[in-house]
Amino acid sequence: MSTFEDFQLNRRVQQAIDEMGFEEPSPIQAACIPLVLDGKDVIGQAQTGTGKTAAFGIPLVERATSDGKVQAIILTPTRELAIQVAAEIRKIAKYKRVRTLPIYGGQSIGHQIRALQQGVPIIIGTPGRVLDHIRRGTLRLSHVRTVVLDEADEMLDMGFIEDIESILSETPAERQTLLFSATFPNEVRRLASRYMKSPEHVTINRGEVTVPLIDQVYYKVLERSKLESLCRVIDSEEVSLGIIFCRTKRGVDELVEALLSRGYLVDGLHGDLSQAQRDRVMKKFRTNDIELLVATDVAARGIDVENVTHVINYDIPQDPESYVHRIGRTGRAGKRGLAITFVTPREFKLLKQIERETKAPMVAREVPSLADVA
Ligand code: ADP
Ligand code: MG
Repeated sequence: MSTFEDFQLNRRVQQAIDEMGFEEPSPIQAACIPLVLDGKDVIGQAQTGTGKTAAFGIPLVERATSDGKVQAIILTPTRELAIQVAAEIRKIAKYKRVRTLPIYGGQSIGHQIRALQQGVPIIIGTPGRVLDHIRRGTLRLSHVRTVVLDEADEMLDMGFIEDIESILSETPAERQTLLFSATFPNEVRRLASRYMKSPEHVTINRGEVTVPLIDQVYYKVLERSKLESLCRVIDSEEVSLGIIFCRTKRGVDELVEALLSRGYLVDGLHGDLSQAQRDRVMKKFRTNDIELLVATDVAARGIDVENVTHVINYDIPQDPESYVHRIGRTGRAGKRGLAITFVTPREFKLLKQIERETKAPMVAREVPSLADVA
């Protein structure tokens, strides 16, 4: 059993960790913190909600100096995740007073430029906006020591890879590169090693990609009665804080309308909303002003909201990775959660494929009757 004291961190970093209520390092933290402090390249794989952010955040803050240059850059696939990771690292850096800054699309670039001019050692950003700053000459990565790809498999997915390569090419070749995710398909591992120097592979709980704290069930539903089924499930389950995933942005909007008209405290999140709207919705969800968040996969990766009791796949995810990340919004930091997946008859094969690849059986349930709900 290791303790945070074993790492002999700067006392101001240790003080912040104590204040965050972290009593002992999670397994991924115990394994990765010494390696990262040592300057090693690391591919870190551990289940959702097991503290990967601090596994890289603590050593980055520990090693940060105040020379006014960008020393570390963390890339995330979504704006919400950039904001959240920045907030977590800011807590770790509270007493050491290391500056951090999230930079992401949809926020005033002028504001970000002024903040960057202050000299920020740790930057957390989405690839598009980071590149934008590089091209404007407002962000220089020539002194970067560490690059982190959070949700690395998503970041190296086809849609992001060119941006990531451009950003990496702005950093020194001798940099340290860190990759974290709950899922690493083999082709991503191979691709990743191109950017790394003999990386250490740290895999926690090999073979079990989902946390046992999440109970997994499915309901066979008919397309035409999906909404009715959803309402019955929500009512009988007494969902106190839940995320409902839909496949499309339009699907999110329609479901939000339908649930609002039935009296649920609900709002929607997807990429077509303005950043101000996205921020407002996330804030309402984090403060429990809404009980249900209806979202596309934009909320599937990394988002950490305390006490999410239920994740409902209203539309079944299209691949096992998406399933793992969606349901991982519950059952975090040692708490239990329930993951519910709706499956229509023609999606049954996909459900079986997800079960096979995650090696986590889902238990079949019957949609409650009206009498059950009452
Ligand atoms: P992951 O990236 O693995 O999905 P996060 O880094 O988002 O997980 O952490 C999940 C939650 O656990 C966060 O709320 C975080 O503050 C908390 N956490 C992280 N490390 C510890 C720890 N050692 N002890 C207690 N809670 C922790
Ligand atoms: Mg994470």
